[in-house]
Amino acid sequence: MDYPKRIEALRGRFEEVGVDAALICHRENVAYLCGFDGSAGWLLVLPSQAVLFTDSRYTLQAEDQAPDVEVRTPEEGIQDGAVRCINDLRGRPTIAFEANVLPWRQVETLRPKLNRATLVAELDLVEKLRQVKDADELSLIRQAVAAMDAAYQATLATLRPGMRESDFALELEYAVRRAGHRESFTSIVASGPRSAMPHAQPTDRVMEPGDFLKVDCGARVGGYCSDMTRTVSVGEPADPRQAAMYQAVRAALVAVEEAIRPGATGKDMDAIARKMIGDAGFGDSCYDHGLGHAIGREVHENPRLAKRSDDVLRPGMVMTVEPGIYIGGLGGVRIEDMVYVTEDGCEVLTQTPKPEAIPCVPVATTGWGDRERT
Ligand code: ZN
Ligand code: ZN
Repeated sequence: MDYPKRIEALRGRFEEVGVDAALICHRENVAYLCGFDGSAGWLLVLPSQAVLFTDSRYTLQAEDQAPDVEVRTPEEGIQDGAVRCINDLRGRPTIAFEANVLPWRQVETLRPKLNRATLVAELDLVEKLRQVKDADELSLIRQAVAAMDAAYQATLATLRPGMRESDFALELEYAVRRAGHRESFTSIVASGPRSAMPHAQPTDRVMEPGDFLKVDCGARVGGYCSDMTRTVSVGEPADPRQAAMYQAVRAALVAVEEAIRPGATGKDMDAIARKMIGDAGFGDSCYDHGLGHAIGREVHENPRLAKRSDDVLRPGMVMTVEPGIYIGGLGGVRIEDMVYVTEDGCEVLTQTPKPEAIPCVPVATTGWGDRERT
Protein backbone atom coordinates (compact mmCIF):
# COMPACT_ATOMS: atom_id res chain seq x y z
CA MET A 1 0.00 0.00 0.00
CA ASP A 2 1.34 3.41 -0.96
CA TYR A 3 0.34 5.27 2.24
CA PRO A 4 2.52 8.37 1.64
CA LYS A 5 0.74 8.85 -1.69
CA ARG A 6 -2.66 8.72 0.04
CA ILE A 7 -1.61 11.24 2.69
CA GLU A 8 -0.31 13.47 -0.09
CA ALA A 9 -3.67 13.16 -1.86
CA LEU A 10 -5.43 14.27 1.33
CA ARG A 11 -3.10 17.28 1.59
CA GLY A 12 -4.03 18.00 -2.01
CA ARG A 13 -7.60 18.61 -0.79
CA PHE A 14 -6.62 21.11 1.92
CA GLU A 15 -6.71 24.14 -0.35
CA GLU A 16 -10.04 23.13 -1.90
CA VAL A 17 -11.72 22.90 1.53
CA GLY A 18 -9.76 25.82 2.97
CA VAL A 19 -7.86 24.18 5.82
CA ASP A 20 -4.22 23.81 6.87
CA ALA A 21 -4.47 20.35 8.41
CA ALA A 22 -6.87 17.49 9.11
CA LEU A 23 -7.60 15.49 12.22
CA ILE A 24 -8.71 12.02 11.09
CA CYS A 25 -10.54 9.94 13.72
CA HIS A 26 -12.59 7.47 11.68
CA ARG A 27 -10.91 4.09 12.09
CA GLU A 28 -11.25 3.08 8.44
CA ASN A 29 -9.90 6.43 7.26
CA VAL A 30 -6.92 6.17 9.61
CA ALA A 31 -6.26 2.65 8.31
CA TYR A 32 -6.60 3.82 4.72
CA LEU A 33 -4.13 6.66 5.20
CA CYS A 34 -1.42 5.00 7.26
CA GLY A 35 -2.17 1.29 7.71
CA PHE A 36 -2.92 1.33 11.45
CA ASP A 37 -6.23 -0.42 12.12
CA GLY A 38 -6.37 -0.50 15.92
CA SER A 39 -9.50 0.68 17.72
CA ALA A 40 -7.85 3.78 19.22
CA GLY A 41 -6.06 6.08 16.82
CA TRP A 42 -6.21 9.68 15.65
CA LEU A 43 -4.14 10.78 12.69
CA LEU A 44 -3.17 14.44 12.48
CA VAL A 45 -2.15 15.27 8.92
CA LEU A 46 -0.12 18.48 8.80
CA PRO A 47 1.41 20.10 5.71
CA SER A 48 4.75 18.34 6.11
CA GLN A 49 4.19 15.82 8.87
CA ALA A 50 1.67 13.14 9.86
CA VAL A 51 1.34 12.06 13.48
CA LEU A 52 -0.58 9.01 14.69
CA PHE A 53 -1.78 9.26 18.29
CA THR A 54 -2.66 5.99 19.96
CA ASP A 55 -2.28 4.40 23.39
CA SER A 56 0.21 1.97 24.87
CA ARG A 57 -1.93 -1.07 24.01
CA TYR A 58 -1.12 -0.33 20.39
CA THR A 59 2.51 0.85 20.46
CA LEU A 60 3.93 -2.25 18.79
CA GLN A 61 1.05 -2.63 16.35
CA ALA A 62 1.18 1.01 15.29
CA GLU A 63 4.94 0.96 14.73
CA ASP A 64 4.55 -2.23 12.72
CA GLN A 65 1.55 -1.20 10.65
CA ALA A 66 2.27 2.50 10.16
CA PRO A 67 6.02 3.00 9.56
CA ASP A 68 5.41 6.03 7.33
CA VAL A 69 3.98 8.24 10.08
CA GLU A 70 5.26 9.40 13.46
CA VAL A 71 3.65 7.30 16.21
CA ARG A 72 3.01 8.92 19.58
CA THR A 73 1.45 7.37 22.69
CA PRO A 74 0.98 10.47 24.85
CA GLU A 75 0.89 10.07 28.65
CA GLU A 76 -2.09 12.41 28.80
CA GLY A 77 -4.12 10.35 26.33
CA ILE A 78 -4.88 10.56 22.63
CA GLN A 79 -7.06 13.67 22.70
CA ASP A 80 -4.86 15.80 24.93
CA GLY A 81 -1.77 14.58 23.10
CA ALA A 82 -3.27 15.80 19.85
CA VAL A 83 -4.21 19.11 21.50
CA ARG A 84 -0.62 19.64 22.68
CA CYS A 85 0.68 18.92 19.19
CA ILE A 86 -1.82 21.35 17.64
CA ASN A 87 -1.01 24.05 20.20
CA ASP A 88 2.69 23.73 19.33
CA LEU A 89 1.95 24.66 15.70
CA ARG A 90 2.86 28.14 14.57
CA GLY A 91 0.31 30.73 13.45
CA ARG A 92 -3.44 30.25 13.58
CA PRO A 93 -4.03 26.95 11.78
CA THR A 94 -7.42 25.82 10.57
CA ILE A 95 -7.97 22.11 11.17
CA ALA A 96 -10.65 19.99 9.55
CA PHE A 97 -12.33 17.30 11.62
CA GLU A 98 -14.77 14.61 10.47
CA ALA A 99 -18.19 15.99 11.36
CA ASN A 100 -19.88 12.62 10.95
CA VAL A 101 -17.40 10.80 13.19
CA LEU A 102 -16.27 12.95 16.11
CA PRO A 103 -19.03 13.10 18.76
CA TRP A 104 -20.39 16.56 19.55
CA ARG A 105 -19.32 16.20 23.19
CA GLN A 106 -15.74 15.59 22.12
CA VAL A 107 -15.72 18.60 19.81
CA GLU A 108 -17.04 20.72 22.67
CA THR A 109 -14.26 19.57 25.01
CA LEU A 110 -11.58 19.96 22.32
CA ARG A 111 -12.39 23.52 21.25
CA PRO A 112 -11.61 25.37 24.51
CA LYS A 113 -8.29 23.55 24.82
CA LEU A 114 -6.98 24.89 21.50
CA ASN A 115 -5.02 28.11 21.86
CA ARG A 116 -4.92 29.52 18.34
CA ALA A 117 -6.20 26.73 16.09
CA THR A 118 -9.75 26.62 14.70
CA LEU A 119 -11.64 23.37 14.19
CA VAL A 120 -13.74 23.19 11.03
CA ALA A 121 -16.41 20.53 10.45
CA GLU A 122 -15.91 18.69 7.16
CA LEU A 123 -17.56 15.70 5.50
CA ASP A 124 -16.05 13.03 3.28
CA LEU A 125 -12.51 14.43 3.33
CA VAL A 126 -10.96 10.97 3.09
CA GLU A 127 -14.06 9.14 1.86
CA LYS A 128 -13.84 11.03 -1.46
CA LEU A 129 -10.30 9.71 -1.94
CA ARG A 130 -11.46 6.20 -1.09
CA GLN A 131 -14.07 6.15 -3.86
CA VAL A 132 -11.54 5.19 -6.54
CA LYS A 133 -9.67 2.05 -5.59
CA ASP A 134 -5.99 1.57 -6.39
CA ALA A 135 -4.42 -1.68 -7.58
CA ASP A 136 -3.56 -2.86 -4.05
CA GLU A 137 -7.12 -2.30 -2.89
CA LEU A 138 -8.59 -4.04 -5.93
CA SER A 139 -6.39 -7.04 -5.26
CA LEU A 140 -7.70 -7.36 -1.68
CA ILE A 141 -11.27 -6.84 -2.86
CA ARG A 142 -10.84 -9.64 -5.39
CA GLN A 143 -9.61 -11.88 -2.58
CA ALA A 144 -12.58 -10.96 -0.40
CA VAL A 145 -14.94 -11.74 -3.28
CA ALA A 146 -13.24 -15.08 -3.97
CA ALA A 147 -13.35 -16.00 -0.28
CA MET A 148 -17.11 -15.44 -0.15
CA ASP A 149 -17.73 -17.19 -3.48
CA ALA A 150 -15.97 -20.26 -2.12
CA ALA A 151 -17.66 -20.18 1.29
CA TYR A 152 -21.13 -19.70 -0.18
CA GLN A 153 -20.79 -22.54 -2.65
CA ALA A 154 -19.36 -24.88 -0.03
CA THR A 155 -22.21 -24.02 2.33
CA LEU A 156 -24.89 -24.50 -0.31
CA ALA A 157 -23.64 -28.07 -0.70
CA THR A 158 -24.48 -28.73 2.95
CA LEU A 159 -28.20 -27.98 2.46
CA ARG A 160 -30.16 -30.80 4.12
CA PRO A 161 -33.74 -31.46 5.20
CA GLY A 162 -34.25 -30.13 8.68
CA MET A 163 -31.58 -27.45 8.32
CA ARG A 164 -32.47 -24.15 9.99
CA GLU A 165 -31.58 -20.72 8.65
CA SER A 166 -29.27 -20.33 11.64
CA ASP A 167 -27.51 -23.62 10.78
CA PHE A 168 -26.87 -22.32 7.28
CA ALA A 169 -25.55 -19.02 8.65
CA LEU A 170 -23.24 -20.88 11.01
CA GLU A 171 -21.89 -23.10 8.22
CA LEU A 172 -21.30 -20.00 6.14
CA GLU A 173 -19.39 -18.25 8.90
CA TYR A 174 -17.42 -21.40 9.64
CA ALA A 175 -16.38 -21.71 6.00
CA VAL A 176 -15.22 -18.09 5.93
CA ARG A 177 -13.33 -18.44 9.23
CA ARG A 178 -11.80 -21.76 8.26
CA ALA A 179 -10.30 -20.06 5.20
CA GLY A 180 -8.67 -17.58 7.59
CA HIS A 181 -11.01 -14.62 7.08
CA ARG A 182 -13.86 -12.83 8.82
CA GLU A 183 -17.35 -12.02 7.68
CA SER A 184 -17.73 -8.41 6.57
CA PHE A 185 -21.23 -8.31 8.13
CA THR A 186 -23.68 -10.69 9.76
CA SER A 187 -25.14 -12.82 6.99
CA ILE A 188 -28.75 -12.47 5.96
CA VAL A 189 -30.23 -15.96 5.60
CA ALA A 190 -33.97 -15.89 4.95
CA SER A 191 -36.13 -18.73 3.71
CA GLY A 192 -39.73 -19.16 2.59
CA PRO A 193 -42.02 -16.19 3.36
CA ARG A 194 -39.26 -14.65 5.52
CA SER A 195 -37.26 -13.98 2.36
CA ALA A 196 -39.76 -11.17 1.62
CA MET A 197 -37.93 -9.15 4.28
CA PRO A 198 -34.95 -7.61 2.49
CA HIS A 199 -32.75 -7.59 5.62
CA ALA A 200 -34.02 -10.59 7.58
CA GLN A 201 -31.63 -12.09 10.10
CA PRO A 202 -31.38 -15.88 10.34
CA THR A 203 -33.79 -17.58 12.73
CA ASP A 204 -34.43 -21.18 13.77
CA ARG A 205 -36.93 -21.59 10.93
CA VAL A 206 -36.42 -24.95 9.24
CA MET A 207 -36.09 -24.65 5.48
CA GLU A 208 -38.78 -26.54 3.59
CA PRO A 209 -38.87 -27.92 0.03
CA GLY A 210 -40.26 -25.28 -2.33
CA ASP A 211 -38.86 -22.39 -0.26
CA PHE A 212 -36.87 -19.51 -1.57
CA LEU A 213 -33.52 -19.37 0.20
CA LYS A 214 -32.02 -15.88 0.04
CA VAL A 215 -28.49 -15.44 1.34
CA ASP A 216 -26.66 -12.09 1.52
CA CYS A 217 -23.12 -12.46 2.82
CA GLY A 218 -19.60 -11.09 2.63
CA ALA A 219 -16.03 -11.70 3.71
CA ARG A 220 -13.29 -9.31 4.81
CA VAL A 221 -9.73 -9.83 3.62
CA GLY A 222 -6.89 -7.47 4.50
CA GLY A 223 -9.42 -4.86 5.63
CA TYR A 224 -11.49 -5.01 2.41
CA CYS A 225 -15.05 -6.26 2.15
CA SER A 226 -17.10 -8.32 -0.24
CA ASP A 227 -20.88 -8.44 -0.43
CA MET A 228 -23.00 -10.84 -2.49
CA THR A 229 -26.54 -12.16 -2.57
CA ARG A 230 -27.91 -15.28 -4.20
CA THR A 231 -31.41 -16.68 -4.10
CA VAL A 232 -32.17 -20.34 -4.82
CA SER A 233 -35.15 -22.64 -4.50
CA VAL A 234 -34.90 -25.45 -1.99
CA GLY A 235 -35.88 -28.28 -4.34
CA GLU A 236 -38.61 -27.36 -6.86
CA PRO A 237 -40.34 -23.97 -6.25
CA ALA A 238 -43.71 -24.29 -4.54
CA ASP A 239 -45.30 -21.31 -6.32
CA PRO A 240 -45.23 -20.58 -10.09
CA ARG A 241 -44.46 -16.89 -9.41
CA GLN A 242 -41.07 -17.77 -7.95
CA ALA A 243 -39.46 -18.55 -11.32
CA ALA A 244 -40.76 -15.28 -12.82
CA MET A 245 -39.53 -13.24 -9.85
CA TYR A 246 -36.07 -14.76 -10.15
CA GLN A 247 -35.89 -14.20 -13.91
CA ALA A 248 -36.97 -10.56 -13.63
CA VAL A 249 -34.36 -9.83 -10.96
CA ARG A 250 -31.62 -11.58 -12.86
CA ALA A 251 -32.48 -9.82 -16.13
CA ALA A 252 -32.42 -6.44 -14.36
CA LEU A 253 -29.04 -7.22 -12.80
CA VAL A 254 -27.51 -8.31 -16.11
CA ALA A 255 -28.91 -5.23 -17.91
CA VAL A 256 -27.35 -2.91 -15.33
CA GLU A 257 -24.03 -4.74 -15.53
CA GLU A 258 -24.07 -4.21 -19.28
CA ALA A 259 -24.89 -0.51 -18.85
CA ILE A 260 -22.40 0.44 -16.14
CA ARG A 261 -19.56 2.59 -17.45
CA PRO A 262 -17.73 5.76 -16.49
CA GLY A 263 -20.04 8.76 -16.69
CA ALA A 264 -23.19 6.77 -15.88
CA THR A 265 -25.19 8.19 -12.97
CA GLY A 266 -26.57 6.35 -9.98
CA LYS A 267 -30.15 7.24 -10.83
CA ASP A 268 -29.84 6.18 -14.48
CA MET A 269 -28.58 2.76 -13.45
CA ASP A 270 -31.33 2.52 -10.85
CA ALA A 271 -33.95 3.43 -13.46
CA ILE A 272 -32.84 0.60 -15.77
CA ALA A 273 -33.42 -1.99 -13.05
CA ARG A 274 -36.64 -0.45 -11.81
CA LYS A 275 -38.16 -0.25 -15.29
CA MET A 276 -37.30 -3.85 -16.14
CA ILE A 277 -38.73 -5.12 -12.89
CA GLY A 278 -41.86 -2.98 -13.39
CA ASP A 279 -42.26 -4.17 -17.00
CA ALA A 280 -42.06 -7.76 -15.77
CA GLY A 281 -45.16 -7.07 -13.70
CA PHE A 282 -43.58 -6.32 -10.36
CA GLY A 283 -44.36 -2.73 -9.38
CA ASP A 284 -42.70 -0.33 -6.97
CA SER A 285 -44.30 -1.99 -3.96
CA CYS A 286 -42.22 -5.11 -4.70
CA TYR A 287 -38.86 -3.31 -4.97
CA ASP A 288 -38.25 -0.27 -2.85
CA HIS A 289 -34.59 -0.31 -1.85
CA GLY A 290 -31.63 1.20 -3.66
CA LEU A 291 -29.90 -0.64 -6.49
CA GLY A 292 -26.38 -0.66 -5.11
CA HIS A 293 -23.54 0.96 -3.23
CA ALA A 294 -19.81 1.38 -3.39
CA ILE A 295 -17.80 -1.00 -1.23
CA GLY A 296 -14.26 -1.10 0.05
CA ARG A 297 -12.98 -0.89 3.62
CA GLU A 298 -16.63 -0.55 4.58
CA VAL A 299 -19.53 -2.55 3.21
CA HIS A 300 -21.61 0.53 2.40
CA GLU A 301 -19.69 3.42 0.88
CA ASN A 302 -20.48 6.18 -1.57
CA PRO A 303 -21.35 6.59 -4.39
CA ARG A 304 -24.80 4.99 -4.51
CA LEU A 305 -26.93 3.58 -7.28
CA ALA A 306 -30.37 4.79 -6.24
CA LYS A 307 -33.50 6.65 -7.38
CA ARG A 308 -32.23 10.07 -6.36
CA SER A 309 -28.49 9.56 -6.76
CA ASP A 310 -26.71 12.09 -8.98
CA ASP A 311 -23.42 10.32 -8.28
CA VAL A 312 -21.35 9.74 -11.41
CA LEU A 313 -19.38 6.53 -11.86
CA ARG A 314 -15.66 6.74 -12.50
CA PRO A 315 -13.06 4.14 -13.50
CA GLY A 316 -11.69 2.37 -10.43
CA MET A 317 -14.90 2.40 -8.43
CA VAL A 318 -16.18 -0.88 -7.00
CA MET A 319 -19.95 -1.13 -6.75
CA THR A 320 -22.60 -3.65 -5.81
CA VAL A 321 -25.64 -4.16 -8.03
CA GLU A 322 -28.50 -5.75 -6.13
CA PRO A 323 -32.03 -5.53 -7.49
CA GLY A 324 -34.76 -7.49 -5.74
CA ILE A 325 -38.45 -8.39 -5.72
CA TYR A 326 -40.26 -9.03 -2.45
CA ILE A 327 -43.84 -10.21 -2.05
CA GLY A 328 -45.25 -10.47 1.44
CA GLY A 329 -46.52 -13.96 2.26
CA LEU A 330 -44.66 -15.50 -0.67
CA GLY A 331 -41.03 -14.48 -0.37
CA GLY A 332 -38.30 -12.48 -1.99
CA VAL A 333 -35.49 -12.70 -4.50
CA ARG A 334 -32.34 -10.59 -4.51
CA ILE A 335 -29.25 -11.20 -6.59
CA GLU A 336 -26.19 -9.10 -5.85
CA ASP A 337 -22.88 -8.93 -7.68
CA MET A 338 -19.88 -6.72 -7.16
CA VAL A 339 -18.50 -4.92 -10.21
CA TYR A 340 -15.33 -2.98 -10.94
CA VAL A 341 -15.80 0.08 -13.15
CA THR A 342 -13.26 -0.04 -15.99
CA GLU A 343 -12.37 2.56 -18.63
CA ASP A 344 -15.23 1.50 -20.91
CA GLY A 345 -17.62 -0.64 -18.90
CA CYS A 346 -17.35 -2.87 -15.90
CA GLU A 347 -15.94 -6.20 -14.85
CA VAL A 348 -18.19 -8.44 -12.77
CA LEU A 349 -16.10 -9.55 -9.80
CA THR A 350 -18.53 -12.02 -8.21
CA GLN A 351 -17.98 -15.46 -9.68
CA THR A 352 -20.77 -17.48 -8.05
CA PRO A 353 -23.02 -18.51 -10.97
CA LYS A 354 -26.39 -16.84 -11.45
CA PRO A 355 -28.09 -19.15 -13.97
CA GLU A 356 -30.93 -17.82 -16.13
CA ALA A 357 -33.51 -20.01 -14.43
CA ILE A 358 -33.86 -20.20 -10.69
CA PRO A 359 -31.36 -22.74 -9.33
CA CYS A 360 -33.19 -25.58 -7.60
CA VAL A 361 -30.78 -26.93 -5.04
CA PRO A 362 -31.30 -30.63 -4.58
CA VAL A 363 -31.97 -31.54 -1.01
CA ALA A 364 -30.18 -34.70 0.00
CA THR A 365 -32.13 -37.41 1.76
CA THR A 366 -29.79 -37.39 4.72
CA GLY A 367 -31.19 -35.00 7.28
CA TRP A 368 -29.31 -32.21 9.00
CA GLY A 369 -29.75 -34.06 12.29
CA ASP A 370 -28.12 -37.19 10.81
CA ARG A 371 -25.13 -35.14 9.69
CA GLU A 372 -24.74 -33.78 13.18
CA ARG A 373 -24.74 -37.25 14.68
CA THR A 374 -22.10 -38.72 12.37
ZN1 ZN B 1 -25.43 -7.67 0.31
ZN1 ZN C 1 -24.96 -4.74 -0.69
